[in-house]
Amino acid sequence: MRRTGFIYIPQESRDNLEIGLARGVWGWKDQAMARQDGTSKIRPFEFGDYVVFGTGGPNPRISTERYRDEATLTRMVLATVVRPLYQDDRPVWPGEFPHRMDLEFLVDHSGSFTAAELGDGALEALRQSANRIGLLVPGDGLRAVGYLGEFPRITTSAPPLTGVPATHRTQRYGQVREVRPGLELPTLADWEQRKVHRDPVAVVCGDRTDGAESLVLAAEPDPAQPEADLVHVVGPDAPATANAVLTKSRDNGKSVRVLSPSTGGFRYLGLYQVVDNYLVHQAGGAETHHVLSRLAEPKAGTDQPETRTAVVTRRIRSTAVAEQVKVFYNHTCQVCRTRLVAAGRAYAEGAHIRPLGGRHEGPDRIENILCLCPNCHTLFDLGGIVIGQDLKVHQENVMPFDLHRIPQHAIDLAQLAYHWSLHRSKSRTT
Ligand SMILES: [Zn+2]
Repeated sequence: MRRTGFIYIPQESRDNLEIGLARGVWGWKDQAMARQDGTSKIRPFEFGDYVVFGTGGPNPRISTERYRDEATLTRMVLATVVRPLYQDDRPVWPGEFPHRMDLEFLVDHSGSFTAAELGDGALEALRQSANRIGLLVPGDGLRAVGYLGEFPRITTSAPPLTGVPATHRTQRYGQVREVRPGLELPTLADWEQRKVHRDPVAVVCGDRTDGAESLVLAAEPDPAQPEADLVHVVGPDAPATANAVLTKSRDNGKSVRVLSPSTGGFRYLGLYQVVDNYLVHQAGGAETHHVLSRLAEPKAGTDQPETRTAVVTRRIRSTAVAEQVKVFYNHTCQVCRTRLVAAGRAYAEGAHIRPLGGRHEGPDRIENILCLCPNCHTLFDLGGIVIGQDLKVHQENVMPFDLHRIPQHAIDLAQLAYHWSLHRSKSRTT
């Protein structure tokens, strides 16, 4: 079941709530986290859990019973967590609130709300939050969430956390004049001024209708990597709306400006195209990964980059997804556990379970790829190795044994069944 946490907003913090609503984020001060065991209350909240904000009502320093019987709150806001507790010092509110959660705000309603509408548990949690400087207090949210969920959803033209005011929302995709890859500026606010990244607080700028305009990577890519033209963005480092925005970019093919942290602040890496989005299943739920491929530099006299051909994009997608599987297993074969190393570099192959080409048309997705050594890859493609629905490896003259697998790597059993049937039928006819 989804958790619900309650946050009481005192009169003096109402402006902060407006900022939070506009930005899709909420934050706490250091003191709030240090006292009252704040971290342990907030940390369990995960993607999809509810947060209910309330304002108004009587002095909270009265008894639970009196508060329950007498309190009438005047405004309630319902949100869900899109990024659990993290730290960020970049300014959002006046004052420092570095302990943050990204939220998708669903409902914002003013009226009169009592225990009859919200439930006794909600009222008590709000009272406690009011007495604990706005800490998030877990409580029984069944009634409150059910009641608030009936109100019309907030409609915003800008998605949360891209937070660009409507008046600034002239879309600007592609190359920005006089900004070349490699240029470094000290802060994201400088990049905002150059119209490269229009919101210094956002990870991704853009919207669900037209896709991403620009994004900021969490870390600088290693230029020594063989796939230096590819960058990976992992969903939890961006809010859920950012995932939707980046998925849109893959569909419409528009270029995305990419910035990365660097020693001198932030460096512009150039224009990229989103070439793949895929899910990685984790214990806590699925993560969305995005793969972006660098576009060639614009020709002289034009601001539009040359786009790569579909064939090249296809190869890049294949490489990027297979690369992820190899990283999962540290280049160790999932069948024989061999890890090949040459000149200090590990080598493994990404083997498609259902082949990509010809009549097979297998998906180029992580669920359809195994990390294998070249020998096992060859045997697998020839049908000398098949894998059952119980993930046991069947190999000639060997007792079936378990395929080496990590939980993050979801393997598509339907593709294994396809591979199995392909080779079982072949062995019968020969
Ligand atoms: Zn092997």
